[in-house]
Amino acid sequence: MALEIRDDFPDDLHVVAVLKGAFIFLSDLIRHMPGQVSLDFMAVSSYAKGTTTSGEVRLQKDLDTTLDGRNVVIVEDIVDTGLTLTYLQEILRARNPRTLRTACLLSKPSRRKVNVKVEYIGFEIEDRFVVGYGLDYAEQYRNLPYISVVGG
Ligand code: 5GP
Repeated sequence: MALEIRDDFPDDLHVVAVLKGAFIFLSDLIRHMPGQVSLDFMAVSSYAKGTTTSGEVRLQKDLDTTLDGRNVVIVEDIVDTGLTLTYLQEILRARNPRTLRTACLLSKPSRRKVNVKVEYIGFEIEDRFVVGYGLDYAEQYRNLPYISVVGG
C-alpha cells in the first residue's frame, strides 16, 4: 500500500493520521514509503466506550498546518459505518487540498451506513470488534503486536 500511494504521489505527499488508532499502522506504512513525506495528526472520537457507534463524531485535535494545494492522504485504522471518515473527509476537503484520498488498514463493508470513498484498503474483515496494533477497547489492547478479537 505504501508503494501504491507513493506511485500515485511521487512528489508532494502529506499524510494526515487519525489518532489514536492509526498510530502503529501509520508508523509501519511510512517506513515503507521511499522519498519525502510530511505528517500531521488529528484526533476524533466516535466511540465513547464499548463497541457500538453513536454516529456522533467529535474533533478533539486539529491539524497543525494548512492543506492548501497539497496531496493529502488520510490514514485511518478502520472504516466501519463510514461516519467518521465521511465527517473527516468533509472538513478536510473544505481546506482546499489539491487531492484528498484515504488509506485504511481495515474495512468492515457489511457495517457501512454511508457510502464513503476509501482508495486504499489493507484488509476487508467481517463484523467483529477487533483490537490490537493500535486499536483499542476502552483504551486497552493498543499495544498488542497483532490484531485480535476480544473474548474470542
Ligand atoms: P465508523 O465511523 O466508520 O463507524 O468508525 C470508525 C472508528 O470506529 C474507527 O476509527 C475506530 O476508532 C472505531 N472502530 C470501528 N470498528 C472498530 C473495531 O472493530 N475495533 C476498534 N477497536 N475500533 C473500531
